[in-house]
Amino acid sequence: MNLIFLGAPGSGKGTQAARISEWLNIPTLSTGDMLRGHIRQGTELGRQAKEHIDAGRLVPDELVVSMLKERLALPDMQNGLILDGFPRTLQQAEELDTFLQIDHVIHLEVPDEAIVWRMAGRRVCPDCGATYHTSWTGFSENCQKCGAKLITRNDDKPETVLNRISVYHKQTAPLIDFYKKQGKLVTIECDAKGTPEHISALIKKALQ
Ligand code: AMP
Repeated sequence: MNLIFLGAPGSGKGTQAARISEWLNIPTLSTGDMLRGHIRQGTELGRQAKEHIDAGRLVPDELVVSMLKERLALPDMQNGLILDGFPRTLQQAEELDTFLQIDHVIHLEVPDEAIVWRMAGRRVCPDCGATYHTSWTGFSENCQKCGAKLITRNDDKPETVLNRISVYHKQTAPLIDFYKKQGKLVTIECDAKGTPEHISALIKKALQ
């Protein structure tokens, strides 16, 4: 099964993709994680992507699509996958349709006010990419998977967050209609207080 997780930045896509990926036993591919990997490794793509990411803008379609296509050609992605953070523009969605058959699109719907709150408290592991929120029960400043000290992503700083939300509404939200018309959209309403466990349960129910 090939799934897309669609939602504003900070909607919980990454957290839910990881949980559902474990449940379905299929890998998750996050274009944001891949791009951050390129930046860490100092590749040419990373150099080009960094200025866009740090400013809260999208990385140009052609760069992201070719990076994804290359990754999908590897053998570990042949038995289903979850796309987290891709597509983010209509052009990406139209191109994706030419090389991958998508079964369902899980749209995590979160009010803008909740997004600002979520991103302010988001902490990530710089080593393994795990994501946490300072409000979670048992939150600690160190990664529970690998022990590294958690950080706040550069693009989660308040000045960038508002720009990312406006980019989402302008460039990514039109995908909601695009996938509704294809009959693939499943909308999960996530209110501010919904725990990750509760949201995962709603997604599992919708997929069963
Ligand atoms: P994320 O970790 O998914 O929030 O992505 C972080 C940043 O990486 C985004 O704000 C974009 O600048 C960039 N990015 C990730 N995925 C895409 C994509 N599909 N298209 C364009 N830019 C992307």
